[in-house]
Amino acid sequence: MIIQTDMSLINKKLYIGGRWIDSESKATIDVFNPATGKKIAEIANGSKADVLKAVHSARQAFGPWSEKDPVLRAQFLRKIADGLQSRSEEIVDLISLDVGMPRKMAKIMQLGLPINILNYYADLVEKYSFEESHGDARVLSKPLGVAACITPWNYPLFQIAAKVGPALGSGCTVVLKPSEVAPLATFVFAEIIDSINLPAGVFNLITGTGEEVGEVLVTSADVDIVSFTGSTQVGKRINQLSAPTLKKVTLELGGKSASVVLKDADYEKAVKATVSSCFLNSGQTCLAQTRLIIPEEDYEICANLAVSAVKNFTVGDPFDDSSKLGPLVSKIQQSRVRSLIDSAIHEGAELLIGGSHLPINLDGAGYYVLPTILGRVNPNSEIAQQEVFGPVLSILTYKTEQEALDIANNSQYGLSGAVWSRDIKKAQKFAEKIETGQIHINGGKFILDAPFGGWKNSGRGHELGLHGMQEYMSYRTLLG
Ligand code: NAD
Repeated sequence: MIIQTDMSLINKKLYIGGRWIDSESKATIDVFNPATGKKIAEIANGSKADVLKAVHSARQAFGPWSEKDPVLRAQFLRKIADGLQSRSEEIVDLISLDVGMPRKMAKIMQLGLPINILNYYADLVEKYSFEESHGDARVLSKPLGVAACITPWNYPLFQIAAKVGPALGSGCTVVLKPSEVAPLATFVFAEIIDSINLPAGVFNLITGTGEEVGEVLVTSADVDIVSFTGSTQVGKRINQLSAPTLKKVTLELGGKSASVVLKDADYEKAVKATVSSCFLNSGQTCLAQTRLIIPEEDYEICANLAVSAVKNFTVGDPFDDSSKLGPLVSKIQQSRVRSLIDSAIHEGAELLIGGSHLPINLDGAGYYVLPTILGRVNPNSEIAQQEVFGPVLSILTYKTEQEALDIANNSQYGLSGAVWSRDIKKAQKFAEKIETGQIHINGGKFILDAPFGGWKNSGRGHELGLHGMQEYMSYRTLLG
């Protein structure tokens, strides 16, 4: 389906009703390589008629799909996972090309995790009991219907797998609208689906902008659930637009996560891990720990540790194996992040490393930003409050543990975070008081079985684990 001509990938087709079809609109969207600033692809900017066709096709397919044996649905999920594995090199190349994530890292985060998610849901669907009893009552878990899945660009296949896996597994049918900024790997995902003979209409792919395609999806009365991952601003708009049709809406939104280093913590381990979390995917990660909160009296020690940790983050071409930090996804993002750095310094933050100037070893065409650490950041300043979505770590200090907690909770967001202490009980008690959906204690690992979701302006609802699949279902209670 993807035609490669002189580094130009052209895919103007949509996948609707089990077929690749032309969009009714002739409009297209350009896709750029963030490492060079050059146009690399053209995709269709779908029309309202395309969206309605996709929703209709998902609606038609819903009844038979929802009645299929869950074991069969699980087999399809495994086949998609196998397909991703068999096309791994191509997928990793495409993601490094349009997202700009260094290839080595992309292989683990952008390919390995989506495969694991799909296999996880295949296992879960096989063992999940879609029926339970309470006295004489039989309670049936039923899929909601047509799921509109709207995804961002930063981890394209991760977010797609975290929606399409549980949606199809539960018995819903799907209309997927990926981000128009980094859509290339999604075409491979749809090609894999096409190759495994999934019943027509169970999965549909439509490309286009949020305003033109996304809004038709979220306002459609024939969509039963919108599962959205993206910015808080767009999440709020989707919430409003969906309200008149009373459809279910789950929102995975932005973050400004805190890593709180308590006085008795292993500073070296804590600071190094926070730096790694903050700079992952050039800081374009929703759960990035972007606020490092440390004891005032040990500011110099912790700041030095952070600066030396960041020196390992070589900025460069995603296809160069020595690169640990690729470009930002777009020129707009690059300008925004550089201006946030300047404003932070203007507001009194200390520039410890990096800054808003462009990296000198690169030719200036890519959307690179230097890994930047700002010290003595005021907790109420713009840089401490706004989601930056770039490689910028803010260091904030506290005098008492209560103050550390207040600073951690002084945020409109509540997505992730970390607590560090050699006293595990103390760390756990502290973690319980942080207003966030997920928190890592002394480097506790991210797992796929546990629910992931935000509090406050970070969203509503959950992905991953059993909770992630239950979002796509409701219950029918049969009495007597
Ligand atoms: P975005 O909100 O700009 O776009 C996300 C998706 O929504 C895209 O597909 C876009 O086309 C679509 N969209 C835009 N406007 C729309 C509208 N009016 N109606 C319907 N759809 C619309 O976000 P982005 O820039 O792609 O991604 C970055 C953001 O995503 C960051 O804020 C990040 O924190 C967040 N994010 C959150 C999570 C999470 O799990 N909480 C994960 C990854 C990214």
